[in-house]
Amino acid sequence: MSDKALVVLSGGQDSTTCLYWAIDRFGIEKVTSVTFDYGQRHHVELECAREIADCAGVPNVILPIDTFAALGGDALTDPGIEVVNESAEGSGLPNTFVPGRNLIFLTFAAAYAYQRGITHLVTGVAQTDYSGYPDCREETMQSLQTALRNGMESEIRIHTPLMHLSKKATVQLAVELGALPAMAMTHTCYNGKRPPCGACPACELRAKGFEEAGVVDPLTPNT
Ligand SMILES: [Zn+2]
Repeated sequence: MSDKALVVLSGGQDSTTCLYWAIDRFGIEKVTSVTFDYGQRHHVELECAREIADCAGVPNVILPIDTFAALGGDALTDPGIEVVNESAEGSGLPNTFVPGRNLIFLTFAAAYAYQRGITHLVTGVAQTDYSGYPDCREETMQSLQTALRNGMESEIRIHTPLMHLSKKATVQLAVELGALPAMAMTHTCYNGKRPPCGACPACELRAKGFEEAGVVDPLTPNT
């Protein structure tokens, strides 16, 4: 079992906090990061991830997965679908839900890790996430870990340091870990705005977390 770690870095606030968590836990020379180019509406995320990894001083690799856009039906990969904040009737999920996304991401990350003798995967999923995405739940992550271990005959371990943290606690953790400077490079807004729109649910949740933690968001220092 190696002590090397791979962080799934989306370019957002949570995965950035996880990157610094991994550096703190495993040591900077043991950490690398992966970002998925899955046809996301906000391509700027890829540049953000690169900047954040540079800021933290860890390598970043971008891996392409173009199948999600071909599947269609979600607002994050289909430019023809507008981001709607309300949950859809029936599923109870907003149309920003990309079915299977985290499962696929972590499976590819595990395969990448396998080839490089990396044991630890780190992801910023949180059960407390306001959207209630089912692929962010602890139970999902635990069963995926079991599936990956069985399927790859490996000791891969999925770490979810933010799983039970509120947004406030996540901001506090970011401050403790020295992740704040990198927060200025993160991307959260569902509308893809830089500076962020301030009005979408992702922006509102982020602002609430910083406000409750009593910390100025370096991305929006003047609001
Ligand atoms: Zn926004």
